Amino acid sequence: MNITHAYAAQDAKSKLAPFDYKPRELRAHDVQIEVLFCGVCHSDLHQARNEWQNTIFPVVPGHEIVGRVTATGAHTQKYRVGDLVGVGCMVDSCRSCPSCQEGLEQYYEEGFVPTYNGQDRETKAVTYGGYATSVVVHEDFVLRVPENLDLAGVAPLLCAGITTYSPLRHWNVGPGKKVGIVGLGGLGHMGVKLAHAMGAHVVLFTTSPSKIEDGKRLGADEVVISKDPQQMAQHTNSFDFILNTVAAQHDLNPFINLLKRDGNLTLVGAPEHDHPAPHVFDLIFKRRSVAGSLIGGIAETQEMLDFCGKHNITSDIELIAMNQINEAYERMLKSDVKYRFVIDIDTLRQESAA
Ligand code: NAP
Ligand code: ZN
Repeated sequence: MNITHAYAAQDAKSKLAPFDYKPRELRAHDVQIEVLFCGVCHSDLHQARNEWQNTIFPVVPGHEIVGRVTATGAHTQKYRVGDLVGVGCMVDSCRSCPSCQEGLEQYYEEGFVPTYNGQDRETKAVTYGGYATSVVVHEDFVLRVPENLDLAGVAPLLCAGITTYSPLRHWNVGPGKKVGIVGLGGLGHMGVKLAHAMGAHVVLFTTSPSKIEDGKRLGADEVVISKDPQQMAQHTNSFDFILNTVAAQHDLNPFINLLKRDGNLTLVGAPEHDHPAPHVFDLIFKRRSVAGSLIGGIAETQEMLDFCGKHNITSDIELIAMNQINEAYERMLKSDVKYRFVIDIDTLRQESAA
């Protein structure tokens, strides 16, 4: 019998534990992927613990998937058995609304189908993610992985990479621009690497003094301890753009005050509780703006992967076994990960075979 071995949380309080399910039969344009590596995003933790209050249990997290194609549907055109591929946060969308037609499937009006904790558009079956031995995905939502990169380090590009790449591109980050990245976690460290590769002057804001050296090694020209008002004051009115990746509620005003006239602060961190509203006058008097950004479309995700292939960019990772996932979540909550946990899914295959 065709069975997928996975790890799932059964409710908001329980730890992740082994969970088996029967995958769907391959549809005409489906691709079956043997998962090799899956990154661990803070969004996995938010949803496993129902912090966004929309989790359908049991939930199999994982949307930073790298693997190899093992089977294709009758009419699959883009991929063949043996291809190295990736899957990110989306597995379907309507393809006909204005957002989908512009390649911005993530902003699809009715809501895209997330890789996990979503519902299939045809059958309404709950989607299960990449903490699993295999996944079945429509070929339009499968990405091609550059062959020159370390595969475990590629996995986090599928969410942390695109979520930082997309707003950096949208806000025209490049040479001559002063760009801040707030928080050196999974998203933040990709933001530092990508903004540096785009040619900007990059300033990392961290709450962790122990990360100063790493910040510079990863590509930051300067590192600021964001809890130190004196260090912050030295950068008042100087930034074109700041990308905030912090996973917890905090005061945005100290960052808004660092923006130039017309500067923008974009939020990608999605904390359980909202940030307090910022001071209105600090926005008005310099025409500053605060925006949000959600992952990136499929075409832009491929563009980001190709950019990373060209610039030899991967995530700095700590490879873990599947059964270390609960410990990894606890460490992520303490900002104690350098800088992304990635699950070696072979350990799940071995555990399931034993
Ligand atoms: P992560 O690896 O846990 O990194 C978050 C970083 O935020 C930490 O490393 C820490 O950096 C900083 N931080 C944590 N708590 C803080 C606090 N109380 N005050 C100030 N700084 C704090 O998480 P991640 O996987 O990068 O995800 C970050 C957030 O983005 C999550 O909320 C996630 O759900 C969200 N997300 C959004 C999208 C999107 O499309 N918008 C996509 C993926 C993820 P320092 O130690 O350097 O201070
Ligand atoms: Zn994610």
